Amino acid sequence: MPNGIRAELNGNSGIVILGIFAADMAFAAKRLPHIAETLLGSDFKLGPGGKGSNQAIAAAKAGGKVTFISRVGKDPFGEIALSAYAAAGVNASVLQMEGVSTGAAFIFVNEDNGENAIIVAPGAAGLIGIEDVEANRAHIEKAAIFMTQLEQPLEAAIHGLRIARSAGVTTVFNPAPAQTIPDEIYALCDFVVPNEVEVAHIVGHAVETDDQARAAGDILLQKGAGCAIITLGARGALYHTARQSEFIPALSAGKVVDTTGAGDAFLGGFAAALSEERAPAEAVRFGCATAAIAVTRPGTAPAMPLRTEIDELLS
Ligand code: ATP
Repeated sequence: MPNGIRAELNGNSGIVILGIFAADMAFAAKRLPHIAETLLGSDFKLGPGGKGSNQAIAAAKAGGKVTFISRVGKDPFGEIALSAYAAAGVNASVLQMEGVSTGAAFIFVNEDNGENAIIVAPGAAGLIGIEDVEANRAHIEKAAIFMTQLEQPLEAAIHGLRIARSAGVTTVFNPAPAQTIPDEIYALCDFVVPNEVEVAHIVGHAVETDDQARAAGDILLQKGAGCAIITLGARGALYHTARQSEFIPALSAGKVVDTTGAGDAFLGGFAAALSEERAPAEAVRFGCATAAIAVTRPGTAPAMPLRTEIDELLS
């Protein structure tokens, strides 16, 4: 199988996403508490989150036809997940498990600048394995795009990428959160999309300057990725292939209130645009627009914009 980017999708327009759901519990405060300290916060919100789940909701709201593969517990948090998929129009291939809790995330949001720090416990989604991928083989093989991340066990991600690659499905891999991954994964990926922290972990050097971002992109290509897209927060994203390297600036859609889930908004928008056979660099622009709107709103999945809003920002 050639490793380049397929110019055309395989006649389908569906996006299949493998990943976790976690109930996001977002606390806003001036700073994180110290050990043994109790700190008064200024806000609390509970909502649907988890990288894969956020990406699925973002992609569906951005106009994609999305199937999401995951697991949740048979509990109130699991119900939040299923209602969110119904509301966003995501086809949920989600196993509801007895006796295991749904994943949950503690999100600290700095009330002054919107920066965040997160602990995520995957719960039922931590039990996602090769069998979940096999159970969805038919969905994956007839998709246009398969996208996954690293919050669920690595072998499930690799298995999904392998099935997609063998079927000629375009693969998008978000190596998040940062962790050590086998190099074999890159050759399965048309697009590898890390943020600055994740790519620094992969390449072993800081990624702060444009030159460092390009050098990191080169390493991802050498490892076998078809294309590297490095998201650079408020600076936008680097689109980097063997033939083209372009910094695509972030957009502004108003005051930034919460950057949690910016990467997921970007990936959802990117996948939706790619599924419409837009050129990859244009899909990056669409991802930037999706994220630019999401960061003006609190929370993760509920912050994902509608297609009409994205089109308006880009017009
Ligand atoms: P998170 O972990 O918070 O979900 P991330 O670190 O994975 O996000 P970033 O690189 O911070 O992802 O952001 C992803 C994309 O979101 C960027 O490429 C950019 O297009 C957009 N973005 C992020 N921050 C801002 C911002 N302050 N203003 C406008 N766009 C932003």
